[in-house]
Amino acid sequence: MNRRAFLKAIGSATLLPIFPASLPASMNFRRRRPSDAAWPSPSAWKQLDEAVSGNLMQVDFPLAALKTDPAGAAARHLADSLTNPYFIGEQPGLTQTLGWVDAWATQPSVYAVAARTAQDIAEAVNFARENDLRLVIKGGGHSYQGTSNAPDSLLIWTRHMNGIEMHPAFVPQGCEDTLEPQAAVTLGAGTIGMQAYDAITTKGGKYVQGGGCTTVGLAGLVQSGGFGSFSKHYGLAAGSLLEAEVVTADGRISVANACTNPDLFWALKGGGGGSFGVVSRMTLRLHDLPEFFGAANFTVKATSDDAYRRLIREFVSFYREHLFNDHWGEQARLKPDNTLEIKMTSYGLDTEQARKVWQPFLDWVKRSPQAYSLEGWLVISSIPARRWWDVQWWKEHWPEMAFPNQKGNPLIALFDRALTYLQKQPVFALDGRPGAGPNNAWWMGDAGQVAWFLWGYESLWLPASLLETDAQQRLADALFASSRYSGVGLHFNKGLAGAPPEAIAAAQDTAMNPAVLTAFALAIAAHGQGPAYPGIPGHEPSVAEGRQGADRIDRCMSQLRALVPNPGSYVSESNYFEKEWQQSYWGSNHPRLAQIKRKYDPDGLFFVHNGVGSGQWSVDGFTRL
Ligand SMILES: Cc1cc2nc3c(=O)[nH]c(=O)nc-3n(C[C@H](O)[C@H](O)[C@H](O)COP(=O)(O)OP(=O)(O)OC[C@H]3O[C@@H](n4cnc5c(N)ncnc54)[C@H](O)[C@@H]3O)c2cc1C
Repeated sequence: MNRRAFLKAIGSATLLPIFPASLPASMNFRRRRPSDAAWPSPSAWKQLDEAVSGNLMQVDFPLAALKTDPAGAAARHLADSLTNPYFIGEQPGLTQTLGWVDAWATQPSVYAVAARTAQDIAEAVNFARENDLRLVIKGGGHSYQGTSNAPDSLLIWTRHMNGIEMHPAFVPQGCEDTLEPQAAVTLGAGTIGMQAYDAITTKGGKYVQGGGCTTVGLAGLVQSGGFGSFSKHYGLAAGSLLEAEVVTADGRISVANACTNPDLFWALKGGGGGSFGVVSRMTLRLHDLPEFFGAANFTVKATSDDAYRRLIREFVSFYREHLFNDHWGEQARLKPDNTLEIKMTSYGLDTEQARKVWQPFLDWVKRSPQAYSLEGWLVISSIPARRWWDVQWWKEHWPEMAFPNQKGNPLIALFDRALTYLQKQPVFALDGRPGAGPNNAWWMGDAGQVAWFLWGYESLWLPASLLETDAQQRLADALFASSRYSGVGLHFNKGLAGAPPEAIAAAQDTAMNPAVLTAFALAIAAHGQGPAYPGIPGHEPSVAEGRQGADRIDRCMSQLRALVPNPGSYVSESNYFEKEWQQSYWGSNHPRLAQIKRKYDPDGLFFVHNGVGSGQWSVDGFTRL
């Protein structure tokens, strides 16, 4: 007898309050797997297929070819393709990260609905709910935590929903009396960064806040908060969300915005993807472009630990004085080999202005040639902002930069006194498959993460108070100490201290951990290895090395965590094994998120690892605890 029948039989309504209202009928509720007798019959699947206009598919696991015939032509072709994020994105049975040592390894769903419409999504949601299936949602497939794959599941795959429509004057539904019309863009749920940038910036001359990585799915990005290279100016991607169309657990297609379902709208802005419903489309505010976007790339190497300590100390104070504003984003990386790598982007500065900013720091480095050397290339350069993601423009203007394999690797010298500014080799990698879209490109800086298998990944918001004069030495010492264990990147665009007030105000009205508002940077340490997957000969993840790598990352970040009273971490770029993740990801916003989860998904249809409400489920999301 199940719990409900039992209660009815004993007529004991008074017992009800001891059971939380949202519990399903059985305390041991377990989702069905294909091995269960109650798994939907072939005719039930056929009905679903008809309901979604033939968009139901069985999901293959492309990596199987590497296991069965690793030396065969198909396997060799596949191994090559695994360096291409567009290829991976087109496989419903793959994810961009292939796994994480001791955590997860990507596995295909049994079936996928390759959704074309919100109605397709609603049919899949209803089918999963009615048949007690494990449901999973995938857009760009970039989750580090493995939250867009699950074995024995039904997948809603939004890749094909990539329509883009710009509006000169958009007003969210129901907000006609309260909000002014504004320029906006509506994106299908499967839109990835480059598709949006091409339509909105290259062709449309406007700006939308997406991610730094061109192949990240924007629905996943927005729901985790979302930072791009220029977020220090424009703020969070979630801060620009005006409206979403969402399929909730009851199968209803709803609108969420500031006036309609405002609680759900708020949760979608940073509460984490895959927890509150399936977003079928989003409308984001458009912004103006500045005249220039630019980059500053160079590496300084110190000859001793002492010199490196001084370099870090100098950089911290230089950052505070000259870079701590909305012009400068992206990263400075500190490494165990005593190098400081600058890989930063600029907003709204021409080349001369940008170089002037850096000159005092470069002069400081230059004054101590026995202690410091500039390694490799030095680039401080700006280009028209509208061309930042314009692949054709890169081809025409600096083919040497974009395509070193075609033209060798010539140096373009931009001379400035004793320093030679060199254009760095390739900026974009291209999808070379026959028939591939001309804008299928990704930054070389992201290439190392395609099909990687993670060893560890941790992040931490660093409060701007650490930049105060009397705290700088402490910060510099901790950065030096952390760099003894692992490379660590300071992502300045992922902390909003120094951003314009409107970007901060928009971020305040999201579910993200408020720590993002007062942080000058998000520190990230991560390690992984190139295409690897368990059971593939010659490409097995190195478990022992992976554990050591994770340990080094933990030690590295512990040095920095010691500086921060309530450590906060970015949900999408964080540790699979994050301790106290509710506090870490959402801080004081978690209780409200938990309440909204109970309202819109009381039975936990939407489950992701360390997502809001996931604590009530087994780690695989199949059994209610
Ligand atoms: C190489 C790389 C670079 C990255 N760079 C950045 C960066 O510059 N800035 C940044 O902020 N983050 C970055 N990230 C993190 C990334 O933004 C997040 O992982 C994001 O959630 C990915 O979205 P996706 O659609 O690509 O991934 P998916 O794995 O498809 O989805 C991520 C999560 O969102 C859910 N989801 C996806 N679509 C929907 C939908 N339509 N409705 C409801 N839930 C959905 C999924 O279920 C999953 O839980 C990067 C990640 C990688 C791997």
